[in-house]
Amino acid sequence: MLERILEFVFPAQCAACDAAGSGLCARCFPARDPVSRTLPTLRVRALGRYEGALRDAILALKNGRRDVARELGRRLGPLAPGGAQLVPVPTSARRLRERGMDGVRAIAEEIAAREPATCVAAALVQLGDAAQQGRSREERLHARGRFRLARALPHATGEIVLVDDVVTTGATLEDCAATLRGAGYAVARALAVAVAETDVGAPLPKQ
Ligand SMILES: [Zn+2]
Repeated sequence: MLERILEFVFPAQCAACDAAGSGLCARCFPARDPVSRTLPTLRVRALGRYEGALRDAILALKNGRRDVARELGRRLGPLAPGGAQLVPVPTSARRLRERGMDGVRAIAEEIAAREPATCVAAALVQLGDAAQQGRSREERLHARGRFRLARALPHATGEIVLVDDVVTTGATLEDCAATLRGAGYAVARALAVAVAETDVGAPLPKQ
């Protein structure tokens, strides 16, 4: 029912070519093998590289497009381990006010609605600007500890998997993982829509 209301309020349209039907059409981004990116302590799986139609989709997501979040969640769902506890990387409070939607959380919720997985929304929160004051711009860009655990994760057996939109340096995901580990949770994997670089030897997306 909610899905139908959302479809009515936000009719799906491809972020790359505007075709009606889904937030990212099969012509602009055909089904393909996922790509991998290995970070210091995390293994990331993603739909592809941050370019072309996938880049268009992520920009639309950042602008609050729920139809795009639904389609990206549909495509990422099969990459989630069975029973996964999905922890979305949170957006800042300011961005949430501006956009009206946390796109990464919307993707994680879509995955949880489709797959045997749960979304632990708002487990992590980004520290506010106040916490960043006194740090230089350089320090802010590279600082660890930009997140805190806002609620305990349920005592479930499912593997904890972080979810993000685009992985560039991987510093944000590592920061989130360190926050979770600091609270005693094990985490070794992440799902992302796109990665800026893939592992050497990993299959590159066909264009
Ligand atoms: Zn398209």
